[in-house]
Amino acid sequence: MGRVRRRQLWILLTFLILVALVAATLQGGLGRPKGIRAVDMPELVADVERHEVAAITIQGPSITAELKDGTKISTIGPEQPDYYIGWFTQNGVVPRYERSQGAWLEVAGLVAPTVMLGLVMALLFRQMQVGNNRAINFGRSRPRLAMERSRKVTFADVAGCEEAKEELKEIVLFLKDPHRFGRLGGRIPKGVLLMGSPGSGKTLLARAVAGEADVPFFSISGSEFIEMFVGVGASRVRDLFEQARRRSPCIVFIDEIDAIGRHRGGHAATGTDERDQTLNQLLVEMDGFEPTDALVLIAATNRPDVLDPALLRPGRFDRRVIVPAPDVRGRQEILRVHGRKVALAPEVDLERLARSTPGFSGADLANVVNEAALLAARAEKPTVTQADLETAKDKVAMGAERRSLVVSPEERRRTAFHEAGHAVVARLVPDCDPVDKITIVPRGFALGLTQPLPRERHAESAAYRLGMLALLMGGRAAEEEVYGERWSGAEADLRNATRLARHMVCVSGMSDALGPVAWGTPLEDATGRSRFEAEYSSATAERIDAEVRRLLDEAHAQARELLREHRGLLDAVATALLDRETLDSAAFEAIVRDHLAPSGA
Ligand code: ADP
Ligand code: ZN
Repeated sequence: MGRVRRRQLWILLTFLILVALVAATLQGGLGRPKGIRAVDMPELVADVERHEVAAITIQGPSITAELKDGTKISTIGPEQPDYYIGWFTQNGVVPRYERSQGAWLEVAGLVAPTVMLGLVMALLFRQMQVGNNRAINFGRSRPRLAMERSRKVTFADVAGCEEAKEELKEIVLFLKDPHRFGRLGGRIPKGVLLMGSPGSGKTLLARAVAGEADVPFFSISGSEFIEMFVGVGASRVRDLFEQARRRSPCIVFIDEIDAIGRHRGGHAATGTDERDQTLNQLLVEMDGFEPTDALVLIAATNRPDVLDPALLRPGRFDRRVIVPAPDVRGRQEILRVHGRKVALAPEVDLERLARSTPGFSGADLANVVNEAALLAARAEKPTVTQADLETAKDKVAMGAERRSLVVSPEERRRTAFHEAGHAVVARLVPDCDPVDKITIVPRGFALGLTQPLPRERHAESAAYRLGMLALLMGGRAAEEEVYGERWSGAEADLRNATRLARHMVCVSGMSDALGPVAWGTPLEDATGRSRFEAEYSSATAERIDAEVRRLLDEAHAQARELLREHRGLLDAVATALLDRETLDSAAFEAIVRDHLAPSGA
């Protein structure tokens, strides 16, 4: 009888979906106008600037814009969305965020109510169907089973995180021979939590563990558990483990575990119930592991701070491995790993490249090598040169050059002074990183750019950060000094300076007025330095504001003073920029030497 019911159910559901589809088509909801045209970022930017864009939707890395004439264009967004989102907003288009995949959403909007109705009925049927809880199959998770038949990923493919690899070696041992491992008295590993910012190589590491142990690798993303219908997440979890147990020894990798593993019951709205059920099921499964299961769960997150403590208890994700952002040596090794896959010219200096890419993740660096190889291929060069790598680096960091952007001579001159202001202040303030490059070639959303070449440091002194503040103020100070006017081009500088100053006061205890107090806890994510949870009274808030203001005022005054004093140098650098567009560190130093030598500085 269960069988018959089930068939009826499917017929009913199929019928309902068909009705919905027909209705949707009649409404024209499916006929999107000629689909979405793929464009590159500069084109999207140009459209926004021409005020031709009616709406922007951001979905993960993809940005879709609806133009006022009804056509849609789409592009893959840049690495630092913050900046661009602000820019969109300033230009009159407030972007909208969306979770799931684009084209489906419109259809889903129409079909979902119908399916919901169907689902409710299905659940009713299920209630009647005692003992047979396989009635609906929506819950089947489809973890991608990567057997890595072609080319296994191994630890050799992962560079720059030796400690993490070291910690994971035990898991490999266990998976290779679970019984022996148990007999030797090793504690059976169950769950490993990889913590690190996006692109730091967490997925790569998990795959490498599977590759080293030569076991199957199941992977699924936390968000996939909860994006469908209510009640499905939990059954997906059950299903996933059922499949995995059959293939053990194996690894189950859950990316973005924070999507299901957030503190339970914290936030009132937005499907908390669903998440709770999914999380509970995950905990049940983990507690039900038999030693013979030889199944290791590896999860990844960049927000360990939001995870439910229940997940971290002994017997669950009790091994936590930090996958750090690579330091200069790590970056060099990552570049070497990826450089092996392309033909590098003999003169290529990966060490220099590593030094000039602070803050780049492993994924960014892989991207740099890729882009450089593409550039070389396009120019039909036999090998990838240092210049290709430098160009690719700038592209990954800032978006592609936009030489086609029409910049009026007046605007170009202004940009030259703005950038020269940054560079000159950076050069004159003690404790500042040397200038690596200055350019007024528009790139991404910026009209120009001054790039420091940071020395690798694990801790930053207050003096260094005060220097940073002055450097950031250098652009605006030059505008005021030269033109007596202020432009919007300095907005990003001001934002960054304000964030840094606030961080110095509230997190680093670098202000006498506020004392050595942590007025906030930094949030451990990719943007650790700029975001923190405030922990102070409103009385203190006012003092913090005043202190931030003081730091910024002083940095601004310092920049103004330096530029006034060295106006000749400022003019010379700006003139050189107008002439040559880009100055490297040597060219910049030459100008500085000419100007500072006579005065004996
Ligand atoms: P995450 O899962 O932490 O977001 P991924 O593992 O998906 O990052 O990394 C994306 C890509 O970046 C990898 O496939 C690899 O090409 C490159 N990558 C990231 N980290 C490293 C690393 N430490 N060594 C070598 N390549 C790396
Ligand atoms: Zn600037």
